Amino acid sequence: MKGIWLEEGQLDYRDDLPMPVCATGELLVEVKYAGICGTDMELQQGYYQFKGILGHEFVGRIVSGTRQGQRVVADINLGCGECQQCQQGLHRHCPDRKVIGIKNRSGAFAEYLAIPECNLLTVPDGLPDFLAVLVEPTAAAFEILEQLEDKIPDRVLVVGSGRLGLLVAHVLSSAGTEVSLLVRNAVRAQHIQDRRIQVIEDPGNMLFPMAVECSASQAGFATALKSLQPRGTLVLKSTFPDLSEFDLGAVMVNEINLLGSRCGPMQRAIDWLAEGHFEEPSIQTLGFEACDKAFQYANDPAIYKVLLHP
Ligand SMILES: [Zn+2]
Ligand SMILES: [Zn+2]
Repeated sequence: MKGIWLEEGQLDYRDDLPMPVCATGELLVEVKYAGICGTDMELQQGYYQFKGILGHEFVGRIVSGTRQGQRVVADINLGCGECQQCQQGLHRHCPDRKVIGIKNRSGAFAEYLAIPECNLLTVPDGLPDFLAVLVEPTAAAFEILEQLEDKIPDRVLVVGSGRLGLLVAHVLSSAGTEVSLLVRNAVRAQHIQDRRIQVIEDPGNMLFPMAVECSASQAGFATALKSLQPRGTLVLKSTFPDLSEFDLGAVMVNEINLLGSRCGPMQRAIDWLAEGHFEEPSIQTLGFEACDKAFQYANDPAIYKVLLHP
């Protein structure tokens, strides 16, 4: 099988990878496109000590069982099915979970992968592949709405205009809140499709009831925190290299609510994308053999998303 193997920070295109073997309840999925996201780049740099096949944002086709031929995306969190969290439907928080392409489970930068059938969601015909690849990060954006039970404040600051930040801004704007998006690299602003989203370069003295940190940087965290009204909510959407330098006194003094937010509702993301709230952005597609170039392109702010294909 063809795919991309990561070992000690080195990405290698290989054509000798073993075909995945389906366990009971799993189906074989043939990958059509898999997107590179910030997490993949962090994993390449050593986060989680991942060795194997990366890739967790993808669209594919089922090639085994009764659902053969269906176009699908997947909930990437595979719970044990038995613990207290799994029993309560919180498989994303299972302490023994495996996460496709992120933790103890092979990912989608390969021709095929085996996935439990219960994790697969059918992609409607009207949703093109290039948007279906965005279902996983769009679901992560919707997690904020799920956690707040759709009670979002009337104004929100989104810090970070990378792929996730842009999706968060679009999802929150379509939910009716006034979004200010902090864009440090002006090239990123060209990917904004929703004209209601306000682009700002510096929040200055503006204060918001809620800020969503999507930049994965200490500077972004500091900006989000200082831009909050007392009793505001700081949503953490990205993983940080290090926050040990931070004096969190301002969180206590201003009674800030910290809200960690990770993976979200896949079906809600499919429905939203199928409704046409986000059109196909600028995308670069490359074959697995061009993996090094693809990861370079993923750092280019002019390209919204880089997709790999077999
Ligand atoms: Zn991702
Ligand atoms: Zn479990």
